[in-house]
Formats: sequence, structure tokens, C-alpha cells
Amino acid sequence: MNTNGTPDLSAFDGIDFDEAERRNVVIIGTGPAGLTAALYAARANLEPLVFEGTQPGGQLVTTTDVENYPGYADGVLGPEMMEDFRKQAERFGTDLRHGSVTAVDFSERPFRLMVDHETPILADTVIISTGASAKYLGLKNEQRLLGRGVSACATCDGAFFRDEHLAIVGGGDTAMEEALFLTRFAKKVSVLHRRDTLRASQIMQERAFANDTIEFLWNTVVEDVLGENAVEGLKIKNVETGETSTLDVTGFFVAIGHQPNTELFKGWLDMDETGYIQTLPDSTYTNIEGVFACGDAQDHVYRQAVTAAGTGCMAAIDAERWLAEHGAIDGVRTQTEYHAAPAEDSDGGMAVQG
Ligand SMILES: Cc1cc2nc3c(=O)[nH]c(=O)nc-3n(C[C@H](O)[C@H](O)[C@H](O)COP(=O)(O)OP(=O)(O)OC[C@H]3O[C@@H](n4cnc5c(N)ncnc54)[C@H](O)[C@@H]3O)c2cc1C
Repeated sequence: MNTNGTPDLSAFDGIDFDEAERRNVVIIGTGPAGLTAALYAARANLEPLVFEGTQPGGQLVTTTDVENYPGYADGVLGPEMMEDFRKQAERFGTDLRHGSVTAVDFSERPFRLMVDHETPILADTVIISTGASAKYLGLKNEQRLLGRGVSACATCDGAFFRDEHLAIVGGGDTAMEEALFLTRFAKKVSVLHRRDTLRASQIMQERAFANDTIEFLWNTVVEDVLGENAVEGLKIKNVETGETSTLDVTGFFVAIGHQPNTELFKGWLDMDETGYIQTLPDSTYTNIEGVFACGDAQDHVYRQAVTAAGTGCMAAIDAERWLAEHGAIDGVRTQTEYHAAPAEDSDGGMAVQG
């Protein structure tokens, strides 16, 4: 982005788009949102082109067990689940490619995209499903033990730690919410905070203070996570006294925020102050017609695989209908009977067909 906040188009200098490949739908990202959008768009014969970015499969490839995705009665490993998503999207003709979208020009349609700084692509619609990244502390052994006791998602992983002693770092509303959630399973939850007051709202603080399962360790920072194959403790330091000690916990939750992967779209799309893309209510429409956003890139509230997949489905249907209205290229027309075709039901509402 330029310093004045307008989009930087220098990446397009000297790039010839005359011979560039042109597609009905380009999907950016292959997490649950992007691959669900791809499945729906492919089944509607839109032949979506999907770029995987640097993390094919998205955030779930960094975790082990997923127990809350519907349809997997016995749970599933995150990477296996995303492999299933990929295969299902490919079965209907999704064109999946390695590469990251490195620049976009949404000033006119077809939209111009650059892939890996060198390949020009034209797109009649774009679905953004670039996700978000949990922030971590950057400790030596934090990433090594990710999914082995280190987690950035209490909703996802709390239930794996029944009757155990857990630690959580953070001082905002999300940290308090997650700490309270963890008390449903854990025998004790230690909230570690580097200051002696919380950033969280008064109401969330009161709830956390009133919960006997939660203890607060003030003025405390985590220096490292201990354990060979699973978390066995934390090395912590009191910043007032300089004293270091070991906290015997078997789970460590990091709740210091998320960063949506949306830098690329700054200057084009409306975003909140953190960078989450703003979509119109009950839709995946952004402020630019023909550009849709789904998944964690636009959802700072739920941040779950199933909600990402749900909005991915919405984005594909929104894109399909938008193309049906504005005309898809090469005479390709959408085939709503393949999925979620709206039909008047007896109550005058919309019925959804499978
Ligand atoms: C450790 C961990 C455990 C979790 N466990 C669970 C769980 O048990 N249950 C649950 O429901 N949720 C869980 N979650 C949350 C869940 O993973 C996310 O809500 C979900 O993955 C969001 O999906 P998404 O498709 O929006 O984005 P992501 O999964 O974040 O995928 C983003 C995709 O965009 C791509 N991308 C980014 N930028 C570009 C670019 N410029 N060009 C091309 N591609 C790009 C990336 O390579 C990636 O493929 C967990 C998260 C983490 C981190």
C-alpha cells in the first residue's frame, strides 16, 4: 500500500495482460473456506482457479485432532481432513495451483491479479479466503509443541485437557473468554499476564475473577515451553522480581490475538482496524462488486473450520449469482440445480435444495 493509503499498482508495470488467462472465478486460499468455495463453484461448472498460497490446506494442517467438524464421528487429523476437502473440490474440476497472489488490481473488471510476482491472471470474480494467522509469542519451543499441548484455540482444543492444569497467556476479552471456557474441562487454569491489570472489559474481568478454577499470575511472562513430545510445563519469569520458575502445566493456550492475511487488499477493500475484511450483512459481498470474502479473513468472531466452510459456500453462491446476472465468460452459465438453488417454499421463504 502507498503511504497515502491508495493501492500500489507498481507490481503491474510492464506486465502484458493481453494474453493473460481469464477465469470466471479465482479463489485465493485453500483452507476450509477456499476449498468449500471451490467445491460449490466447480459443481456449478464455473471451473474455479484456486491458488494455494504458502500453506496449502490452511491453518488446520498445523494441528492434530479435529473433533468438532461435523461428519467425522471419530474425529480426524487436521491434515487428513484438508486432504479430503481438496479431493472433493478436485473431483468436480477445481483447478488447484501452487502459488501466492502477490498483487491485485480491483479498479476494473476483469480484475487483474499477479501470481508469484510474474504470472498475470484475469478474473471476473474473486473469492478471498486467505484466512488469518494466530499470533504466537515466538518462544524457542512453542511451534515445535504446537498441537502437542500448545494451542491458539481453546474452543478447538480445550476438551482434550480434562482434569488437567492449563495455562493461558493474554489479557484481553478473548483471553478471558477462553480461560472461562477452559474451566469447563481443566482442574485449574492459570492466566499469565505481563502486567498487573487486564485489558479485558470490566464484565469479562469480573467473570474471570469470580471463577474459582482460574488463578492469575500477574507481572509474569513465559520464557519457554518445556517438554519433549508434549507440554510438560512452562518456564516463567516474574518481571518485577526477575525470579524464574517452572509452572507444571500440560496445556498452554496463547490468546494474544490473530492477524488476518489481508495486507494485499489494503486500499481496495473496507476493513476493520485489525484488517478483517468487512462484508455486507448476510452475504460475502465486499465493497467492490464481484469481489467476495469468506472465512477467517472476514470473521473475527467464530474462527472455526465449519464457519469458514459455511461462508466459503456462501461466497461461491454469491459469485455464481453475480456472474449469472452480469454474464460469465465463454457462455458458461451457472447451474443452480447442482446446489443450493433458491426456490419459493410454501411459506413464501427460500427453500434450499441439496
Ligand atoms: C492450531 C489450530 C487448531 C485449530 N483447531 C480447530 C479445530 O479443531 N476445529 C475448528 O473448527 N477450527 C480449528 N482451528 C481454526 C481453523 O483452522 C480456522 O478457523 C480455519 O482454518 C479458517 O479457514 P480459512 O479457510 O478461512 O483460512 P485458513 O485455514 O487460514 O487458510 C488460508 C489459506 O489462504 C492461503 N493464502 C493466504 N494468503 C494467500 C495469498 N496471498 N495467495 C494465495 N493463497 C493465500 C493460505 O496458504 C491458506 O491456504 C484451529 C486453528 C489452529 C491454528
